[in-house]
This record gives sequence, structure tokens and C-alpha cells, in this order.
Amino acid sequence: MAQLSDDCFAFGGELMPTAEALDLLAERTATVVSTERVALRQAAGRVLAEDIRADGDVPPHDNSAVDGYAVNFDDLEVHAATSLKVVGRATAGHPFDGTVGSGEAVRIFTGAEMVRGPDTVIMQEDCTQDGETVVISPGIKRGANVRSAGEDIKAGSVILEMNRRLRAQDVGLAASVGRGHLVVYKPLRVAVFSTGDELYDPDRDLPAGGIYDSNRYTLIALLEELGCSVNDLGILEDRFETIRDALDDAARHHDLIVTSGGMSVGEEDHVKAAVEALGSLHFWRLAIKPGRPIGLGQVGAVPFVGLPGNPVAVMVTFMRIARPMILRLGGCSEVTPNVFQVRADFAHKKKTGRREWVRARLVADGDGQPVATKFPRQGAGILSSMVEADGLVELPEDMKQLKAGTIVDFLPFSEVSR
Ligand code: AMP
Ligand code: MG
Repeated sequence: MAQLSDDCFAFGGELMPTAEALDLLAERTATVVSTERVALRQAAGRVLAEDIRADGDVPPHDNSAVDGYAVNFDDLEVHAATSLKVVGRATAGHPFDGTVGSGEAVRIFTGAEMVRGPDTVIMQEDCTQDGETVVISPGIKRGANVRSAGEDIKAGSVILEMNRRLRAQDVGLAASVGRGHLVVYKPLRVAVFSTGDELYDPDRDLPAGGIYDSNRYTLIALLEELGCSVNDLGILEDRFETIRDALDDAARHHDLIVTSGGMSVGEEDHVKAAVEALGSLHFWRLAIKPGRPIGLGQVGAVPFVGLPGNPVAVMVTFMRIARPMILRLGGCSEVTPNVFQVRADFAHKKKTGRREWVRARLVADGDGQPVATKFPRQGAGILSSMVEADGLVELPEDMKQLKAGTIVDFLPFSEVSR
């Protein structure tokens, strides 16, 4: 378990490129959670805190890949049918104990341990059985339809490395080597709140000047998708003391504090002052659109992430900047989402020197190739654009103008959210 160094988010530069922000965060954040042992049934979505090694081979023994007959290849005629005597039966979980001599075969089923002697299994579709005799058509290869011991996993090999977030197949693989419990990192305890006197929770009537708080619900869902244990601390009024006291309290029971809104330098934006009163805060003026600035700091020793207020900016900065850092705090090392190259069917003017994310849908062109189509309303407050879109087209800093038909990077939401 690592502690953050004092004032670890200090940054002296001007506009910070995304790549530099991600590098700095990678350098300055490490796992802050301790570990626990959980039953496999509880392990999906958790982050592995040990290397998992296989004690034995998987499969543990040679076995049949099909229903058929186990035979000695050398007994088979090359150009004509062969008749063999069926001397026994092997089914999954019930091996055949005897030995099989020349001219003999054993009826065998998928998953049954291979019989001592035979080296080949003939599919039942390529045979006819008549009483005790099976007649086998020619043309089979030596060793056909036999799965070898260890062909999936070799005894002694590491099958899952620590710091990996466990998916369904990872949990299944652990079970396949006999592991019923795994050491994983405890979920990152995250406190989330919104700030703003205009904000109200859903399910109530809005007073004049009010809007519903959407960011908190978005953020809680995003964090829970990452496996965090989230504490909803509600909406805080735009008042220095209220925010300071809430932050102070949250820092006692959480590994991370995430807020949205109130981070600008307007006179009603008190989050900045409150964080500074309890620790340190740095505005990273990121060279991005939508979504700058974001605040990174510490409340005492607890890391703090202050995201912008606009709902699209919140999501984009979370997905692209905060997410890798949050995963790392929770022990995960695989934090970089995959981007895919697709053709953009739209033109787009942008500023050089900053990275821009354009909300886009993927549609298939006439040849079935994916094409990114821009959502018409790109404002940082247009949350419906995130709902309509399949992901973000990522336009690099050095690009001045996107011409329709250009191949671009596309980040599907499925890479950073469900
Ligand atoms: P702020 O950064 O607090 O000035 O907020 C910027 C914009 O985002 C304002 O229009 C706010 O009303 C809006 N906003 C801030 N927080 C939220 C929230 N939790 N849900 C929806 N909109 C918000
Ligand atoms: Mg505000």
C-alpha cells in the first residue's frame, strides 16, 4: 500500500497536453488499498492482488475430444476399412481401467480420460458398430481427436497476473486450476458529491432557477462500473464552510474524493478554497475540449479529483483523465482503453494545440465498414449527445481541421464504461 507523497499533483506548466497529464498521473499515483481474500463467486470485477499459478496441468490427463472409438493408429489399414473388437467403454469421469491390445478398440465419449494404449480417437460418424465389432473407414490421422494433458495450461505456469481486473473468463480460468479463493484488492472507497445551489435531486419539483443534479448519478454509475465502493454524499450548497466540513469528514473514511462543479474561479465556486484549506489543490489546465480545467489535489492525504460542472465535460474528463488514475489507485495496472481507427464522415474545425473529443455514432457504410458520424449538438452541457453517441472521435493536438473521409481514432464508450 503506497501513500501519496505530499503535494504530488503539483504542476508548473501552462496548458497541459493529455498525454503529459496521463504520464504525470501514472507517475504520481499508486495502489492505496489493502487486500482481502474472497471466494471465487465474489471475484468478478475485482482486481487481483496475487499471481495465480497452476499447480497441475489443465486438462489434467489426455482425453477424447469427441464421441467415438479409441484405437491404436498402427492397427488401421491405410486404404481399406478396419475391423476392431470393442473391449470396453470410457465415459467422462469414468475411465477404462484395462489395457487395449492390438486389434482392439474402446468405446469412448467426449471428455473421457484417454485409454492406455490407444493414441487416436475415431469419431463415431466415421465408424459402424456391429455387436462387438467396430468397422472404421480409412483416412484418419495419427493422434486425431485426442486432447493432450496440459494443452490449455502447463503445470507451474502463471495463468493470471496480479493487478489484473477479473472478467468472467479470468474467474473461470482460476476455477479450472482448482482455485476457489483469490487475494484481491479491497474496493476503492470513493466519496462523491455535487456542488451548486441550483441543483436538486430527481423525484421532486424544481423551484425557480433549479436544475436536476445529473452529474452525481453519472459519476456514481461510472465509479461503480470500475468496482469502487461509492458513498453518495449528496449536493452541497455553494458555501465555503459547508464544503470544507464535508470534505474534511469524507477524507476520514475514503480513499478518494470526487466532485463535480464549483471548480471555476467564479465567486460562487468554493470547492477550490475548501480543498486548499485542508490540503492542496492544483488546477490542471488541460489542452482539451470539452472539459478544462480539472482540479487535482489532496484533502489531508486523500486524493481529490474535482471535475468540471458541465455534464459532458464531467464524463469526458472522467473517462479520459480520471479513470486510469482511479483504476491505478484501486490496484489495477491495465488502465489504457483501446482506440480503434475508423473513417469520419464529417468535417470539423478545431484549434491546434488541444485535443478534442467529438461525440459520434458508428454506422456501417455500403461495404459494412464502420464510419463515425458526428452528433450535431456538441455543447459541453448537451448530455443527450452522450446518450446518442457510441463513443468519442479523438482529434490530436496537431490537427487543425478534420476533412471528411479521414481515418480517425475512435474511443468506444464500451472501452471506458458499460
Ligand atoms: P460550475 O462549474 O459549478 O460553474 O458548473 C458549470 C455548469 O454545469 C453550470 O451550468 C451548472 O449548472 C452545471 N452543473 C454543475 N453541476 C452539475 C450537476 N451536478 N448536474 C448537472 N449540471 C451541473
Ligand atoms: Mg456551480
